[in-house]
Amino acid sequence: MTDPNFRSGDAKSNVFGTDEMISPSPVQTIPDGPTTEDVAYQMVKDEIFAETDPRLNLATFVTTYMDEKATQLMNEAININYIDETEYPRVAFMAAKCINIVANLWNTPEQNKWKAGAVAIGSSEACMLGGIAAWIRWRERRKAAGKPYDKPNFVISSAYQIVWEKFAQLWEIEMRTVPLSLEKTTLDPEEALKLCDENTFCIVPIQGVTYTGLNDDVEALDKALDEYNAKTGYDIPIHVDAATGGFILPFLFPETKWDFRLKWVLSISTSGHKFGLVYPGLGWVCWKDKKYLPGSMSFSADYLGAEVTQVGLNYSRPAAQILGQYYQFIRLGFQGYKEVQTNSMDVCKYLHSEIAKRPAFVNYSDDVPNPLFIWYLKPEYQATAKWTLYDLQGKLQEHGWMVPAYALPNNLENYVVMRVVCKQGFSRDMADQLLGDIDSAVAEMEKLEYPTESRIAMEKNIPLKSTFNHTGR
Ligand SMILES: *Cc1c(COP(=O)(O)O)cnc(C)c1O
Repeated sequence: MTDPNFRSGDAKSNVFGTDEMISPSPVQTIPDGPTTEDVAYQMVKDEIFAETDPRLNLATFVTTYMDEKATQLMNEAININYIDETEYPRVAFMAAKCINIVANLWNTPEQNKWKAGAVAIGSSEACMLGGIAAWIRWRERRKAAGKPYDKPNFVISSAYQIVWEKFAQLWEIEMRTVPLSLEKTTLDPEEALKLCDENTFCIVPIQGVTYTGLNDDVEALDKALDEYNAKTGYDIPIHVDAATGGFILPFLFPETKWDFRLKWVLSISTSGHKFGLVYPGLGWVCWKDKKYLPGSMSFSADYLGAEVTQVGLNYSRPAAQILGQYYQFIRLGFQGYKEVQTNSMDVCKYLHSEIAKRPAFVNYSDDVPNPLFIWYLKPEYQATAKWTLYDLQGKLQEHGWMVPAYALPNNLENYVVMRVVCKQGFSRDMADQLLGDIDSAVAEMEKLEYPTESRIAMEKNIPLKSTFNHTGR
């Protein structure tokens, strides 16, 4: 007997029993009608459900863990548009306070209460802003001197992050690269200067090179550049791309001179969403002094007597990240940041030393200046091995780990390396689990009878592309 009050559909749960959950998701056209919020939530959530936990993503540099209060704070601010600064002046004010804090971490000599800087969506936008400012300053100088300004160039190592290629292409600027070698693993100042001329508007050393984790020696570059500028009168400045290092060096290596303490460092950019410990997307760029930020790039607003300068490529942008950054500054303080970064470094150094003990592997560098490092297969091991690091990447992926294998940039393109970035949320215990998975994968691959596809490709000199984006996001 059926219940006379029972209506068709009553037995279905309000989510998984619905027609939507047995229908394909929309691909081309908007659905005809609405559905419930529970169903819409479930469908969208499930589409990415099978993908690994971001905390197992050792490829990314970007924050994958924040505490609950920070997450709550950011979620609550999700409907605030940063650009509405006349409606939400406190948000712009908060951003200006963050710029002050960042500039002071980088030892700015600026005496103004409000330091020159800008909030960005990430280092990409921050790098662009630093680069554009240097380009405009050079252009203005050339114009004033009645000299041509149609062939600008900048100098960087071949291990640059992809944003610099974008910068060069979009603005039609020549990018001159200094190749790296196994002996010269970072930007060589003398080689960089050989590429400079009167059309060079800046040199860009990197702190936390995405390919290797190493730091270019900014102090040595500054010294060499000082002599060069005195000799040539070119006054070429430095923009430091400190996407990673900008939030590592001030806490872990405060003695190292890489920042505004150096004469020719006029601007620095970093990612708030990397070791600034905020969810994406957030970046910062600061100038040594207001006078290095061309007026044509900025517009100013007065708030409570504070001059808040706004510079950016994007107009609307989320405010939540700024709240997240300011929260982290207050929540952690200098000591807290230092402890978090120390832990990331300790886990990283532990992995680094363990990898060195494995007979198959050799570390690219003994130096671990940032919480990431790369290693490769010992050439004598690779010679007889039937597998490559691309295969290891695949094996680790089966356990949920995202650990990228990729080839180094030109000159070193025959070196296939593997990289881990150790962030907050990656514990010593997780490092041990990763090592266990690496060891069992290697043991399994050592039993292979025939070479893998990637090993055959390597033999034939067919370049392989990494399936993970390793360019450092
Ligand atoms: C990550 C990175 C960038 C780009 O930064 P986003 O924050 O991803 O926009 C630029 N330069 C370097 C050295 C990086 O590591």
